[in-house]
Amino acid sequence: MNLQRVEFVKSAAQAGAFLHDGLPQIAFAGKSNVGKSSVLNCVLQRKNFARVGQKPGKTVHINYFRVDGKAHFVDLPGYGYAQVAESEKERWGKLMEAYFAEPEPIALGVMIVDARHAPTKLDCVMADLFRSTGRPFLVVANKLDKLKAREIEPNLACIRETLRLGEQTPLLPFSAEKGTGREALVRAIFDAVG
Ligand code: GDP
Repeated sequence: MNLQRVEFVKSAAQAGAFLHDGLPQIAFAGKSNVGKSSVLNCVLQRKNFARVGQKPGKTVHINYFRVDGKAHFVDLPGYGYAQVAESEKERWGKLMEAYFAEPEPIALGVMIVDARHAPTKLDCVMADLFRSTGRPFLVVANKLDKLKAREIEPNLACIRETLRLGEQTPLLPFSAEKGTGREALVRAIFDAVG
């Protein structure tokens, strides 16, 4: 799969607009500002590609990108931005519920958290959603470059424990800024697409 061959397909704001074309879906999730777009751009080796106007407060959307005609990267809407209206938070919940109820299997879930902080309640909700699919998922601990060396192990242990990650769930130390962890993430994506 050639990661350079990527195109934006569509934004979906409700279940009726979801894509069902049989291509494996790699679903990316994370709270607002965690660096989800940066991780996507890092994987795709692009600048400013995965940014389709999802500024906090804007309508909640799922963005689909087709990669080399072989897979869809699914950019799930960010969550947890404090200043978002209650109605938008509700829309997020409904949209996630609908997406995760889809029969289309998620080939791989990629959940992005901030390596500096303990995961939030919504991060735990998100991890539970991925777990509920019974499909493989992994957690990316982004912004690793912001940690001191001695903070890395305890922070990763805290993330693992808070999200109740089993041994089968990889936790990848990552820095979208430095490219740390990119190879491991790309390998996991390729394995999932087959
Ligand atoms: P999104 O809202 O989750 O899509 O987050 P963005 O990709 O827009 O990133 C939010 C902010 O975090 C931006 O200022 C990025 O430059 C910064 N950022 C993202 N990834 C990293 C990283 O690995 N290290 C550092 N230091 N900053 C990062």
